[in-house]
Amino acid sequence: MTAKASPNALPRPSGPGAPSILDLSNDEIERLVAGMGEPAFRSRQLWRSLYKDAARSFDEMTTLARSLRSSLAESFTIDPLTTVMSLDSKDGSTTKALFRLPDGELIETVLMRYERDGHRRPRRTVCISTQAGCALGCTFCATGQQGFSRQLSAGEIIAQVLHAVRVARAEDAISSRSGGVPWPVPVSNVVFMGMGEPLANYDNTIEAIRRLNDPQGTGIGARRVTVSTVGLPPQIIRLAAEPFQVNLAVSLHAPDDETRSQTMPVNRRYPIASLLDACKTYVARTNRRVFFEYVLLDGQNDAPEQAHKLGRLLKGILCHVNLIPVNPTAHGPYRRPGTRRTAAFRSALQGYGVPSTVRMEKGIDINAGCGQLRARAVNQHG
Ligand code: SAH
Ligand code: SF4
Repeated sequence: MTAKASPNALPRPSGPGAPSILDLSNDEIERLVAGMGEPAFRSRQLWRSLYKDAARSFDEMTTLARSLRSSLAESFTIDPLTTVMSLDSKDGSTTKALFRLPDGELIETVLMRYERDGHRRPRRTVCISTQAGCALGCTFCATGQQGFSRQLSAGEIIAQVLHAVRVARAEDAISSRSGGVPWPVPVSNVVFMGMGEPLANYDNTIEAIRRLNDPQGTGIGARRVTVSTVGLPPQIIRLAAEPFQVNLAVSLHAPDDETRSQTMPVNRRYPIASLLDACKTYVARTNRRVFFEYVLLDGQNDAPEQAHKLGRLLKGILCHVNLIPVNPTAHGPYRRPGTRRTAAFRSALQGYGVPSTVRMEKGIDINAGCGQLRARAVNQHG
């Protein structure tokens, strides 16, 4: 938390260096507004303007008195993100944005659009980052290859979703002017699968989820939120005790310690047995299935005997496996397996009663993968 929310200690003057109000918690906003001599309901209005309306300037908050708006604007900015680049895939389904944070760090966010599919409603999913860089160094991952810079604040995490909501609303407005039917909600799903390890930035990730979930906030239900982790057992156990029930995706990527340690250094600290113990505890405490992610690396972890090993390992666990042909990165030596090899892997798993899906990917042409922000059609979360 950067800003202290008392009227006398109002932070630096507004401008490029002013703090973002998104870095204030609900309590801090209440204290700030009370300190300005305003009634309590004003703080709720401000909260709704920020998180429900996704306002980008205090001027837009017409429910608030002009004097309050201008006092806020003197001390705070709202959006900590400056768009450096935005790329659309040819089919228009995917937009990848590169944002600069106030201290110059760069992060990526991907917005994926899924048209109506049979009985499934159309939906938009946003893939967000929780750290600038990542310390965990997985060898197939573009972020891991860049090293760790810093944690994102809760405000910087949720700002990525608010940005997507604004983009989505603008699209819906254009489409309705030409007679189109607007999508049911601007953004329906959020996946923590961008840069960084969410559970290594635990408190800020949880605070961002709380605001996402808040019906007075962004209002995206926990069941439509997926947190992907490299597999940190203590934090998985902690997550099981949180009051909301998000989907948990665990990056497994190998059926034995030797193979996993070759690509995921974290495995030396937390080998597969300890990770699976934590996953079983998570399932027992939450009654929810775990999604295992398994990036297929041609010739490394995709052989039939490895599929059988994985089947034996996961048999009986309430889970679903997402098989993801790797997105080759600039520096990595990895290739995707062919479709036949991928299908064989899947059917071997089936033999153990372990359900799996091969992830269809979006935005390959704009490198939305970039080894990292690759689109996942999170079918079962729609
Ligand atoms: N740090 C978390 C979340 C971010 S990465 C985690 O590791 O789970 C999100 C997912 O993308 C993880 O499953 C990760 O292993 C996977 N991933 C990383 N690089 C990839 C690549 N080049 N191709 C396909 N998936 C990749
Ligand atoms: Fe970090 Fe996840 Fe990339 Fe591994 S895969 S380096 S944990 S972001």
